Amino acid sequence: MDPNTIHQSAIIVDTHADTPQRFLDKDFDLGTVTPVSEGHLDLQKVKQGNLGAEFFSIWVEPRFEGKYAKRALELIDSVHEQARRHPDAMVMAYTAGDIERARRGPKKRLAALMGVEGGHAIENNLRILRDFYRLGVRYMTLTWSNTNEWADSSGDINDPKVQHHNGLTDFGREVVQEMNRLGMLVDISHVSDKTFWDTIEITKAPVIASHSSARALTNHPRNMTDEMLAAVGKNGGVVMVNFYSAFIDENFRKAYAAQRPEREAAVKAWQERMKAEGKPITYEERNKIEKQFASRIPRPPLKSLIDHIDHVAKVAGVDHVGLGSDFDGVDSLPEGIDSVADLPRITAALVERGYTSDQIRKILGGNLLRVFREAERVSREMQAQPTATTLKARATSR
Ligand SMILES: [Zn+2]
Repeated sequence: MDPNTIHQSAIIVDTHADTPQRFLDKDFDLGTVTPVSEGHLDLQKVKQGNLGAEFFSIWVEPRFEGKYAKRALELIDSVHEQARRHPDAMVMAYTAGDIERARRGPKKRLAALMGVEGGHAIENNLRILRDFYRLGVRYMTLTWSNTNEWADSSGDINDPKVQHHNGLTDFGREVVQEMNRLGMLVDISHVSDKTFWDTIEITKAPVIASHSSARALTNHPRNMTDEMLAAVGKNGGVVMVNFYSAFIDENFRKAYAAQRPEREAAVKAWQERMKAEGKPITYEERNKIEKQFASRIPRPPLKSLIDHIDHVAKVAGVDHVGLGSDFDGVDSLPEGIDSVADLPRITAALVERGYTSDQIRKILGGNLLRVFREAERVSREMQAQPTATTLKARATSR
């Protein structure tokens, strides 16, 4: 079958883009066409790539300590505001059914969803978790790169200065159960290996990894081991492969790691300069510096990304793999993928690898829709049980 026909007939779901930082800090409007050097996602590129649904990341940088929830609320508003400004091109979506409805009819609007990135955003408070759900948040990574008070992260697991918990705490387990009850997808991207296993053990709904790749191919702690991939397959969940060069290509990862001292010194010098000048330290500006460093390393071939999709499909199963680009959150992408407009190249590469049209449509979005629906079903089931009331009564802050 012709790759373009497959691509156009699929509901394509990407589970991770950091564009809300641009909405909020740069007053970026999704209707503005920007060069790929400045951004990976705008409405024109979305159309070109036939993207059907985007989970916009509500990423709360740890530097907002003391104001995590406020920062999250502002980011959530920034996504809703984009939908309000562009009613013909995008619409907020809260269910798997909403995504399908958005794609029906001649307009084929982008379904906009949200995922909180970093469990610290709930400020150890299940009431705030529930409020996030009510505002439309449909997944949460239990941690970002920082360990929080109830879950360990892969990002600082070897840092002796950080207080760890050997995975999830009792409250962390309550968070997972409350997410199951709400129908908020439990996202294990970024967590430590032990947090992953603790989560798999207690979750009642299938989990997602919104933007993680395979550690057997690229040895980064953010990536998942084959045992973890197989466990997500068994759990019925889905691993959405991250496109970031340092997660999908071992040569790039090593070169990038070697640059680290020099790169971090440059970022630190810039931060100090901004502080001295009384200017805001934005993620956007930091990303520019990191992009300059990353651009000195050759981009990996597209093959590296496809190898990861292929590997997850083999180890977890073809029903348990999808796309979690990390657009607007990474400083390097593989060759051929400059922005969301280039998604058809992934479809073409999968056709070349011998995947059938049915399998490709699952990878492009069908698998995520199935998992989303199953999480909705588990939620309904839990809410129908009388024990759910007991849990709800206990579920206050600590
Ligand atoms: Zn991330």
